[in-house]
Amino acid sequence: MSSNHFDVIVVGGGPAGLTAGIYLSRARLSTLVLNQGTAGGQMVLTHEIANYPGVESTSGYQLSTIMKKQAESFGCNVKNNILIADMILEDKEKKFTLEDGSIYTSDAVIIATGGRSRTLGVPGEDRLKGKGISYCATCDGDFFTDKEIVVVGGGNSALEEAVSLTKYASKVTIVHQFDNFQAFEHAVKEAEAHTKINFIMESTITEFYGDESLESVDIKNLKTGEIKRFKTDGVFIFIGYVPNSEPFKDKLELSKWGEISVTPYMETNIPGVFAAGDCIAKKYRQITTSVAEGTVAALSASNFINELRK
Ligand SMILES: Cc1cc2nc3c(=O)[nH]c(=O)nc-3n(C[C@H](O)[C@H](O)[C@H](O)COP(=O)(O)OP(=O)(O)OC[C@H]3O[C@@H](n4cnc5c(N)ncnc54)[C@H](O)[C@@H]3O)c2cc1C
Repeated sequence: MSSNHFDVIVVGGGPAGLTAGIYLSRARLSTLVLNQGTAGGQMVLTHEIANYPGVESTSGYQLSTIMKKQAESFGCNVKNNILIADMILEDKEKKFTLEDGSIYTSDAVIIATGGRSRTLGVPGEDRLKGKGISYCATCDGDFFTDKEIVVVGGGNSALEEAVSLTKYASKVTIVHQFDNFQAFEHAVKEAEAHTKINFIMESTITEFYGDESLESVDIKNLKTGEIKRFKTDGVFIFIGYVPNSEPFKDKLELSKWGEISVTPYMETNIPGVFAAGDCIAKKYRQITTSVAEGTVAALSASNFINELRK
């Protein structure tokens, strides 16, 4: 076998991919992680992680660095900032061609490309992400205890998360672009009846302001065009989720939302190709859930290779 052949290639180096890397390398399987971004994936976007068991509080960057180091300590090869130009998943030997022309092959593949929350795409959002702007109530709600916050969106997630954020925040203002909600009636009723929740309808945020952290937003009334500056400590945006599955859409079975369909053992529709983490069809997207699925995918891939070699 060439030195560019691995037992397993893991696509994506977030918590799911790095966990798979740890398990596979520790099982003495040669493993390459091909990661488009920085090691750690979405974890590096958050300044504080306080719900990863065994680690009281850490930064996303720190946890990412430790996970990568741990994988490498077992011999896992992690390549960051790469771009996959072409891939063959259907054949017995899986093949990846990178943009720089290098070619890597493997017997099994784990796809752990994660995803991204849909963003508003307005000025200040990128800069203040993780500094007052959040896309995850479970992750960040606690940081806004006794603060006044805004929730953007009008679907089930927005309304349910707005209600859950009232456990922490002193006041929650829901900003929604339409004059009615696209959510179940019980979720709407619960939000409307809550004394801590206010509504600004037919409106959207057009700009975020703040130096070190978020201080205020501009809210535009979409009917009248009027823009008002609104002071707030935090904004939670729940306007949808986009799995990073575009490169696989002609190869793998996807849900109607573009998530990769897997069995409970993280198998996709192609033998020897597994998927884990935020790119798969599931409801809860957390570091712990991704780590768990990365583990299952690695054990399934190990088993697949053992069977191949019998
Ligand atoms: C701001 C923020 C704060 C959060 N805070 C918390 C928290 O406190 N606690 C918690 O449990 N969860 C938190 N989350 C959620 C958590 O980060 C994710 O659930 C978790 O990172 C998902 O892990 P993953 O490995 O599946 O995917 P990701 O973390 O998304 O990693 C996927 C990796 O794959 C790479 N990739 C994508 N496409 C390709 C491709 N085609 N080729 C190669 N590589 C590719 C990406 O660059 C990325 O590095 C937070 C998320 C955000 C955005």
